[in-house]
Amino acid sequence: MDTRASHYDVLVVGAGLTGVLIAAQLAERGVRVALVDALGAAGSATRRSLGLVAPQPSHWQETMCGVELMHQLCKTYSIPARSCRIAYLATHDEARTRLLNIARLKIDTKAQWHGALPIHQDAVAEGLLTESGLLVDLEQLRAALLRQHALAVHSPIEIESLERGPDAVYALAQGYTLPASSIVLATNAFAGLLSPYLGDSVQFMASITWRSQPRPAHAKRFEQPIVVDEGTFALIPLEDNSVHAMACSSNPAALRPQLVAMLNQLDADLLSYTAEQSSGVLTKGSDGMPLVGQLNAPMPVLYAIGLGPFGAAWAPIVCERVLALMQTP
Ligand SMILES: Cc1cc2nc3c(=O)[nH]c(=O)nc-3n(C[C@H](O)[C@H](O)[C@H](O)COP(=O)(O)OP(=O)(O)OC[C@H]3O[C@@H](n4cnc5c(N)ncnc54)[C@H](O)[C@@H]3O)c2cc1C
Repeated sequence: MDTRASHYDVLVVGAGLTGVLIAAQLAERGVRVALVDALGAAGSATRRSLGLVAPQPSHWQETMCGVELMHQLCKTYSIPARSCRIAYLATHDEARTRLLNIARLKIDTKAQWHGALPIHQDAVAEGLLTESGLLVDLEQLRAALLRQHALAVHSPIEIESLERGPDAVYALAQGYTLPASSIVLATNAFAGLLSPYLGDSVQFMASITWRSQPRPAHAKRFEQPIVVDEGTFALIPLEDNSVHAMACSSNPAALRPQLVAMLNQLDADLLSYTAEQSSGVLTKGSDGMPLVGQLNAPMPVLYAIGLGPFGAAWAPIVCERVLALMQTP
């Protein structure tokens, strides 16, 4: 693209699920939109996601709506979405009370507290069981959104700073100046561009993933995904009988021991099947919610970052909020 000459209505920075969703919705409304990404799909959290679309215990109603919106998106773009049960477990009193309240207050009629939850054939635990989960290939959804709306991702272009001009805002990258009437930063963990504006309202979290080999048919298997506390640990049984696990922590040094301890507790045998590991960084607000807003600086710049372990359920909600902010004069 002749980026130096083009002036777009909106420039979306970051082409993960959030950025692509926002760009697709804008394109649908006839807005001239461009998408840039520093790394391409390979670098995004969306690419590494386990694909579990689950409500977040601390923001259950909001994220339940997000799960429903994701379901609709999958239908619209013919992306297979497998409904699933999810078992929520708690490792401390506050998390346990939160889960009990969801069941007691009937916040979700599909969610019930179980004193003896069958985690897999040999293990029982207490926790909340809900039918409200979805398993989706988020990367496939992201690609379908790009195709359907004929959106091109221009990468690798890493935006380094923003500047206000007389009739445009400029996103500056090495060798590029990209003018747009407004900019949306959907950069997830990379809050560098925003740090001068957001101060310390952003928390970094490191994550680690682990995937087992397909397991022998006679081996025990988990019946449903398991989510612990606010997503500090998640375990997902895959269709090929392997198991995918993830741990998140604000303390990177604790990640591996945390993952090993949880797997040991659930099924020590799983540890002998380790096939791959990776780590990455997530960003989230101190209340566990994504950060969505408009910069205080006199620039038409919106941000939508920090989706965290329940990112898939937040993405459509965050997208709606960004679109609403754009309509606000
Ligand atoms: C290992 C792992 C597993 C996960 N599993 C789940 C799960 O099962 N369920 C769930 O709900 N959530 C999960 N998540 C979280 C979920 O994947 C994310 O919340 C969601 O995908 C975030 O989407 P996004 O578009 O906001 O960010 P991303 O997908 O990370 O996209 C942000 C993009 O911005 C680009 N970018 C950043 N800075 C710049 C810049 N300055 N200039 C240009 N481009 C830039 C990056 O290159 C990146 O491509 C997981 C995350 C990880 C790391």
